[in-house]
Amino acid sequence: MLPERSTLLLKNAHVLPLDPAVEEGRADILIRDGVIEQIQPDIDAPAGVAEIDASGSIALPGFIDTHWHLWNSLLRGTVGDAPGRDYFSVKRGLAPHFELDDFYWSARFALAEAVQNGITSVHNWDHNVRDGGDVDANLQAQIDSGLCGRFSYGPRDSSATTEDMDFARLDAARERWSDEKLDHRIHFGVALRGPYRTSTELAEREWRAARERAMPITMHCDRCLRESACQSCGLTRLEDEGLLGPDVQIVHAVHASAEDVAAVSRTGTKISVSPLSEMRTMGFPRVTEFLEADVLTTLSIDTLAMPANADVLSTLRALLSAEQARTGRATLTPRIALEMATIRAARDLGIDDVTGSLRPGKRADVMLLDAGHASLLPSGDVVESLIYSGTSAAIHTVICDGRILLHSGELVQESARQAIRTANDRRNALVHRARLAGTWDNT
Ligand SMILES: [Zn+2]
Repeated sequence: MLPERSTLLLKNAHVLPLDPAVEEGRADILIRDGVIEQIQPDIDAPAGVAEIDASGSIALPGFIDTHWHLWNSLLRGTVGDAPGRDYFSVKRGLAPHFELDDFYWSARFALAEAVQNGITSVHNWDHNVRDGGDVDANLQAQIDSGLCGRFSYGPRDSSATTEDMDFARLDAARERWSDEKLDHRIHFGVALRGPYRTSTELAEREWRAARERAMPITMHCDRCLRESACQSCGLTRLEDEGLLGPDVQIVHAVHASAEDVAAVSRTGTKISVSPLSEMRTMGFPRVTEFLEADVLTTLSIDTLAMPANADVLSTLRALLSAEQARTGRATLTPRIALEMATIRAARDLGIDDVTGSLRPGKRADVMLLDAGHASLLPSGDVVESLIYSGTSAAIHTVICDGRILLHSGELVQESARQAIRTANDRRNALVHRARLAGTWDNT
């Protein structure tokens, strides 16, 4: 099902390594057993190597997403601006009617789109875990897609705020899914609701359970959404309660006050920003203040359902523009923006020793973009071109862990193409079941 890891030689690429150990410029990249073996000009092709002519191409590390609800991708097309069709209403109405196959194929659909957009690692933020079966469906989808990243185990969608998350079920899932079974490509985390969604006691219990297991924690910062009086994410309270730290990632800190930013900075907490969904439902994304406080800040897709897509370059461009409009400052440079979706994102997920930049010894997560694509011309500084005007349409090859997943702009895996082909039918069947059950009556 997965393409083989072959020995590959990418010839004559313009290599943008995003790594201080490797110089930017024209070079070849030799990949063996899923690992980058060499990056330098004029490598002699070893016997049996498959050569890829990368002249006229830019080689970048694969993008890394730091928060994405893969399970609800099938809701795209149903969410909209008409009454009752907002993201949260659609999610509430349709989530209970997902069948196991829907979890698998919804995730595969999103991961196929990820590959088309050069994303090679995804943080699957599962906030609709109903039983062990859908954990398995999600993990199987991640493994079958060929991508790397994290699976964060969360509560069932709309579960009672008094109901503890089932850590025994998580333990059982970790037993079933050993590192070997996950091919050392995926690791576990936990998605917690936090003290604004549950009682303080429950939040502290869940935090303790996660920390006893040394698992990374992620939490939506949603004390308030678009309410005009909202001027704080309330993160100082989390600091006071000992809930922040380098093991914690906070998502959507759109309303962070100066005190919130300071609390995050003091504790080494990380921030994930989802520009498109934040602007649709919460307000302006917030990056500049975190960067100026040396907080590790990264990019996430969040959901395809909002609706949004996974075009990282276009999303970064939207973020850059929104930040300049909001702050009038240029703290967020194109290079930092690119790092937010590569090496900084790898740091957030704790996988920067194996991915996030191009360097010998790291895993071969690489994309090639056509430097002659109209969106990158007339050419200037490569990083500026990518962020100011580049789009995913320029991406023609994506390699993850040494496997070619996108070739000549086409998905290599039949199952990935199937996920896209069948998305409408699956969504239609889901809506049909919800209608029969009376939880959904919008078109
Ligand atoms: Zn989210």
